[in-house]
Order: sequence, then C-alpha cells, then structure tokens
Amino acid sequence: MLYKQFIKNYKEDYKKYNGWLKKETSHYIFNYFDNKFIKEHINRISKIQENSNNKIFEFLGIRNAKKINYYIYPSEFLKSKYMGNPIYAQSVYKDYSVHIVYNKKIRPLGPHEDTHLISLKFGLPPSFFAEGLAESIASKKRFFNGKSRKYFIKKWLNKYDKDSLSNFFIQKGWLDTPDNESGEFYSIAMSFTLYLIKVFGKEKFFKLYKKINRNMTIKQIVYTMEKVFLMDYEQIISNWKI
Ligand SMILES: [Zn+2]
Repeated sequence: MLYKQFIKNYKEDYKKYNGWLKKETSHYIFNYFDNKFIKEHINRISKIQENSNNKIFEFLGIRNAKKINYYIYPSEFLKSKYMGNPIYAQSVYKDYSVHIVYNKKIRPLGPHEDTHLISLKFGLPPSFFAEGLAESIASKKRFFNGKSRKYFIKKWLNKYDKDSLSNFFIQKGWLDTPDNESGEFYSIAMSFTLYLIKVFGKEKFFKLYKKINRNMTIKQIVYTMEKVFLMDYEQIISNWKI
C-alpha cells in the first residue's frame, strides 16, 4: 500500500549516489557515508537499532514487513543534498527507509522512526497518535532537546488546556501546531497515549489506532474513541491525570 506523506523538498538523489558503504543485520540494511566517525560507530548504531527493533516487537507484537534501509549522513548539509531535507531523523513510508544525521553532536538513534514504519501494518492514524505511539516506545523518560518531559508538559499546560486536546487529533490540527512547540506537542501526545494504554490496555489502543485515519474530523475520531473504549469522551479526558 502507498501511504501519503508530506516531506518538504523530498528527493531521491540518495538512490543515485554510489558511495554508500553497507552493513546488513537481521532487520536492517545500513547505508552510510565513508566518514571516519560513522565508520567507528556503525557497529554501535546497528546494535542500538536491533535492540530498538526488539523493543518495538515486544510492544507491538509485529516485526518489519521487510528490512528497513537506514541512510546515515554525517551532516545536515549532506542529508539535505541527497534527500532534500535537513531534519535530523525522518522515516519515508513509501520507501521503507529512515534517514538520519549522525555526528559528534547529533545522534538520533532508537525506536522512534522505526516504529513509524513497522506500525504501518496497523494503518496510518493522524500524526497525534502515530507520534504518541512512537514516543511511548522510545521511552517516557527520554529527554527532548535536553529538557525533561515534565518541563514540556508543564509548558503545554500553560498555553493550552486538556479540553483543547481534541483539536490536535485531526491531521490539520497537528500540522498547524507551531514548529517551535514540537517538544510540548510530542510530550503531550506521549502522555495521552500512555494514559490510554494504561487504563484501557494495549489491545484497545491498537483497535483505535487501526480505526482512525488522517481524513477524519474531530467528531469522527472522538466518536470512534467512545465506541472503542466504551466511555464518554468527557470522562476519558477528565480521568487523564497529566
Ligand atoms: Zn515521528
């Protein structure tokens, strides 16, 4: 199945580049630049991703449909040059690949991007839920840009409130959130996801995850939630302790 995904300036010059070094493991093919630092770290990188893959399997109960192709660039400049976008870590759904910048300062490893690809078997819910799931598996303790989750959740609560949450369930609502508030929104999506899983169980959460999509309205998502969890939305929200 082809999944619609928007990546700004995306291009596939990385497929034409023939300087990639390769390392293949059970669930990945790592394509990396001939760069001293990356070469020294490639075994460490592959171990971290294979461990992450096991963590995802434990959580979701499913494995990759096929090997995930990792593309590892030493700089934002080179990532931008070959795939169009400088962001540190991105998964490309239709290509089943993950693109990362890896150097002394930037090391975005772990389960987050891989979760996006592996969970495609469940479908493609609005980003709020996809990011919530990826962050939940990547560890609730993980810091975001050096700041704790608590810090971001507090910041989110200073500007928004629990009752406004459903505005961000829909794809447009999520895409319209300010770029400089990603720490706040990723943390709040994680908090809500962990709450749903804790209270209603993983299977019910996955059921919801499979039933919702990016074309739905707030009303449709909230209605689906009430049907899956057998609880009024108001009650669901008021039980959520942030
Ligand atoms: Zn993500």
